[in-house]
Amino acid sequence: MTGSNFLLDTGGAKFLVDCGLFQGEHSFDDANWMPFPFDPSSISYLINTHAHIDHIGRIPKLVKDGYRGRIISTEATRALAEPMLLDAMELSRKTAEKIGKEPLYDERDIAQAMSQWDTVPYHKEVTLPDGVMLEFFNSGHILGSAMAKFSRGGKSIVFTGDLGGGNSPLLPLCENPKGINYLVMESVYGDKTQADKERSTRLNDLARVIKDTAARNGTLLIPAFSTERTQDILFDIRELFATNAVQHMPVFLDSPLAQKITESYLRYPQYFNAQMQRRVEEGEKLFELPGLRYVHDAMESHDVSSSQGPKIIIAGSGMSNGGRVVAHEAAILPDKNSTVLIVGYQAAGSLGRKIAEGAKKVTIKGKPVPVRAHVETIYSYSAHMDSGQLLEFVEKIGEPLHDIFVTMGEPASSAFLAQRIRDYAGLHATVPAEGGSAVIEL
Ligand SMILES: [Zn+2]
Repeated sequence: MTGSNFLLDTGGAKFLVDCGLFQGEHSFDDANWMPFPFDPSSISYLINTHAHIDHIGRIPKLVKDGYRGRIISTEATRALAEPMLLDAMELSRKTAEKIGKEPLYDERDIAQAMSQWDTVPYHKEVTLPDGVMLEFFNSGHILGSAMAKFSRGGKSIVFTGDLGGGNSPLLPLCENPKGINYLVMESVYGDKTQADKERSTRLNDLARVIKDTAARNGTLLIPAFSTERTQDILFDIRELFATNAVQHMPVFLDSPLAQKITESYLRYPQYFNAQMQRRVEEGEKLFELPGLRYVHDAMESHDVSSSQGPKIIIAGSGMSNGGRVVAHEAAILPDKNSTVLIVGYQAAGSLGRKIAEGAKKVTIKGKPVPVRAHVETIYSYSAHMDSGQLLEFVEKIGEPLHDIFVTMGEPASSAFLAQRIRDYAGLHATVPAEGGSAVIEL
């Protein structure tokens, strides 16, 4: 599910696609410290699809363990990666202490990784060793996210990374690469259908949740991923305020990482969709809304939770498995007037998953916390395609696609999607085991 890491071996060269951290259940903690199942110094290139930590989080470890080749991604991915990695380093330090291990990596390893990191725009073909060509396609998942297409001798394979379902108000839609033979695809929502797909529905849902919570004089807490989700939500709240669809109220962004990522977003407006690029050119400040306050330190964070009156708090981490959001949850979950709004994928075992699944009591920092707050979910903030969209994506590729490897999902989700592809698209789709391998013609 997490820890994305693929190896393409052409005989004369070895290419890695992504090198992510395992996240979610604590049983994964150890996995991040395990040696890679290949010699890092034998890898020719590392291609990175996007800056989510489950796709980049072990890159500094790869470098620490001897990788000295180049890392290739889009420019926006590289810009987002550095703050993301520094944040992951802090989190992994805490885990290291807990499980009695050395830190996974330090600032020097991150600096070393950044010094090996080159950028390539979408649709610019790059020549790699052993006659392999690389091209990035926009996957519409987060700023700068890309699918990586490797081709040689008329054959090609695409690694999708994560695929966006067109829900972001900021990003262009996911592209559909054509004429490819093999596909390694994600399946996070391989067995889920998002009912509320339309943007207007999503804004209405958000407006309703804000209004209901404000009517109870409660707090709306939104655990949000620092990348993409926070920016999408800030933008949507700004739209609701601007059209007076909801009453104005204080909005606190309590995530130092999300603040840095938001600044990076503003430095790369060329990665926004055409409409947003135009609005930025016209001088619009997409993430500036009246009443927005950035929360800088943890003390201030405590004051925010306990302040009176209706308000919105956006805090990391998105799955409530650490970060400032956890303290807010301890304060807000027992309050029947407040609301926790789930807007993203919650990994099995995470606190966010327990809250989303309706737990009446959760444990936070060893203490039992009753859940009396309202819990709402808006699926269409998801940065992933749902099951129907994933199938449609495959069907649109058409000939000569004949082998699909369904990966990056919980087992039931991957198996469901693979079956659906076989049944409806009549294509050969399998779910490879972790550590498994397949021979392809390239
Ligand atoms: Zn992702």
